[in-house]
Formats: sequence, structure tokens, C-alpha cells
Amino acid sequence: MIICSNCETAQFLQITQSRVYFENDEPSEITEKYECTLCEATGKYEYSKHDHEDDDVGDVTGDIEVDQEESPLRA
Ligand SMILES: [Zn+2]
Repeated sequence: MIICSNCETAQFLQITQSRVYFENDEPSEITEKYECTLCEATGKYEYSKHDHEDDDVGDVTGDIEVDQEESPLRA
């Protein structure tokens, strides 16, 4: 789950751009750009299967962060 670092909630986040690359019918790379409609913060989420063999959380840059405790990827 991605949340806004300023607002500490995902409630106002919008995905403004999303790209997914597939490899063997599985997502191998994901890039998503986020914008918070409340505080206008922006951020980017990037996931690469090749970089995260043991860690599915991915990388975030900008004013967003991954809420790891509630990440569906870790369920
Ligand atoms: Zn915000």
C-alpha cells in the first residue's frame, strides 16, 4: 500500500501514470506515478522483479512511502 508522506494516508493519492512490463505472464517491472490531491505531493513507485528477489516491496521516491505493515504483497 502506498501512502502520502505528508498526509500519512492513501486516501487522497491518485495514480497519474502506470506502466507494467510482463515477462512470462508475470509482472517483471512496474512504474507508477502518484499525486496527492490534498497536498499536491508527487511520488513514484518502482518495482523490478530482478532487483527484489527476496523483497517484493519495491522502491519509492518523492513524497510517498510504502506502508509495509499493510502491504498486500506481504500478506
Ligand atoms: Zn498528501
